Amino acid sequence: MVYYGAIEAGGTKFCCAIGNEHGEIVEELTIPTEHPEKTLRQLIPFFQTYPIEALGVGSFGPICVKEGDSSYGYIMNTPKIEWKHYPLIPELEKQLGVPVSFTTDVNAAALGELTKGAAQGLTSCIYITVGTGIGAGAIVKGELLHGHSHPEMGHILVRHHASDSFAGVCPAHGSCLEGLASGPAIEKRWGKPAKELGEQEAVWALEADYLAQALMQYTLILSPERIIMGGGVMNQQQLFPLIREKLAFYLNDYVDLPPLDTYIVSPGLGDKAGLTGALLLAMERKANCSQ
Ligand code: ADP
Ligand code: ZN
Repeated sequence: MVYYGAIEAGGTKFCCAIGNEHGEIVEELTIPTEHPEKTLRQLIPFFQTYPIEALGVGSFGPICVKEGDSSYGYIMNTPKIEWKHYPLIPELEKQLGVPVSFTTDVNAAALGELTKGAAQGLTSCIYITVGTGIGAGAIVKGELLHGHSHPEMGHILVRHHASDSFAGVCPAHGSCLEGLASGPAIEKRWGKPAKELGEQEAVWALEADYLAQALMQYTLILSPERIIMGGGVMNQQQLFPLIREKLAFYLNDYVDLPPLDTYIVSPGLGDKAGLTGALLLAMERKANCSQ
């Protein structure tokens, strides 16, 4: 049996998994995100219980994904002070002695969904999470989308709705998409946690407006074959038809799209999209090393 390791590194927890050569998760461990050294002290022994060949990591960001850069594999300018400029990947490589592949949490989720989830059989997709923050990753022609850095599609500018005077919660941009439509933005605007606002139609009409604006930009710029929407806020299933309707309204038949109920969908892998993608990255890394 051949084993690989996977980590979905989030702001509140690190989800760790061991997978087999079929990309199936065989064991999992979740640990809280604390001081980096404390977090690593807990996860290293877990990965040492199996003879893993490589590790894949999908991480919160911003992160440096530029191979050859002196900061490659570092967490960059995060508000989580203890993690700022932490050399996550170099540390994991050093302590585990295996090659490590690295991308954003949402890029990993997009890869997981394309390979084993809701976008199987396609060569492009976008995965967006609407949770504590908003982030989106993309696969283009079967490859993770990295550029000078990595996309940060959660921070795009959207048009403030005429009825909405909320200033937004993004520490960097105020009223960017994340500032206006993340879980904390909903809670601050309406005075209650998002999950307690399920019955209030105005909440979800406004939320769908902002998210549809974002999907319009993504559609126009990347032309993905499918958009997968996950994260805590998307548990409000009533958002899906509202977003599809608003997207159709904004695009106004200008571009050709697949039927909208197959274009905008829930994750096929539930909350395992990121971990599955990280595992696939580990397998790919090992295959590349062996060539
Ligand atoms: P994270 O983004 O921290 O990884 P989640 O994707 O679970 O975690 O997102 C957490 C956010 O989602 C919180 O702001 C929370 O209020 C919101 N949320 C969680 N569950 C629901 C729900 N059922 N309905 C609406 N919002 C929810
Ligand atoms: Zn922002």
